[in-house]
Amino acid sequence: MSANVAAMSHPALSEPAIAELYRFDCAGQLPLCEAGEPASFRFLNSAGQAPAVLICDHASRRIPARLERLGLDGAELARHIAWDIGVAEVAAQLAPALDCPCVLSDFSRLVIDANRRTGSSGSIPAVSDGTEIPGNRNLGEVHRRARVEQLFKPYHAAVSRQIEAKLAEGRPPLLIFLHSFTPVMDGFRRPWEIGILWNEDDRIARPLIEALRARGLTVGDNEPYSGASSEDYGLHAHGEGRGLPSALIELRQDLVDTREGVQRWARILRDVLKPLLAQQRDMANIPSEGQT
Ligand SMILES: [Zn+2]
Repeated sequence: MSANVAAMSHPALSEPAIAELYRFDCAGQLPLCEAGEPASFRFLNSAGQAPAVLICDHASRRIPARLERLGLDGAELARHIAWDIGVAEVAAQLAPALDCPCVLSDFSRLVIDANRRTGSSGSIPAVSDGTEIPGNRNLGEVHRRARVEQLFKPYHAAVSRQIEAKLAEGRPPLLIFLHSFTPVMDGFRRPWEIGILWNEDDRIARPLIEALRARGLTVGDNEPYSGASSEDYGLHAHGEGRGLPSALIELRQDLVDTREGVQRWARILRDVLKPLLAQQRDMANIPSEGQT
C-alpha cells in the first residue's frame, strides 16, 4: 500500500501542525528549567548520511529540577513509567551502524509525553500503570502550557529539523521511531520480543515484520500497542503527515536491559533495517537518477 496523505485523517495531523512546532513562545511563562539544565532533546550522529532519521521519544527519565521529581520517589522513577528502558543505549549503537542521525528526547514522559497529542489524556498523565503522579494532579493551564512550549514543541522542532535537512538534500528519509515496552502489563506476560507499529502506511512495517520473523523472532504486528491509536503523535505527525515511510519499533525491556542485550538488538535492527535503507528511493517513489 502506498501512503495517500490526503486521505489520512489522524487527529495528530492537525494538532499542533508541524510549522507550529517552531513557534514556541516562552515569554511570560513559568520557566521550567534552571540555567544550565539540558535542552529538551539530544542529537546523535547528526552528520549521518543514510536516508533515515532515528527518533526516540521516551529516551530519558530526566525531570527538570523545579518540578521536584513530580513528588515521586526514586523507586517509582526507576520504573518503565518514567522512560523506555534500553532505548537510548540501543540508539547509540544503531545510529552510527546505520549511518543516520538520531534525535532523543531529554525529558521524562511523566512530565509531558512526547508521543501523545497535547491535550489528550495521556499527555501529562495523572496516573501511569497504577502509580499516581502527584506533580501532575490538578495541573493548571499555565503549567500545562509551560510543558508544551518548553519541552514538547522544542523536541519535535528538533525532530523536524533533522527531517527537513534530509528533504533539503533531496533524500526523503525513512522515519524509524524506537521505543521499548514492559514485559508484563496488567498481569499479562507479553510474548513478543519486538513489536512493529504502523497506522496506514506499511511500507516499512511489512518488510520489517517479515525480515524479523524470518530470523525466528516472535514479532508483534501492531502489538503490544496499535499504531492507529488516536492519542499517539510522532508516527502520524512526522511520518504520515509528511508522506514519509515510517514505522515504530517496540523492544521488550527485559531483552535490552543488559549490555549484551543492547548489542544483540542493535545488531539485529541494523541487519533488518539496512536493506530497507537501500530501497529508500523506491519506497519514497523517487525516480532513480537519469529517469524522467
Ligand atoms: Zn515509548
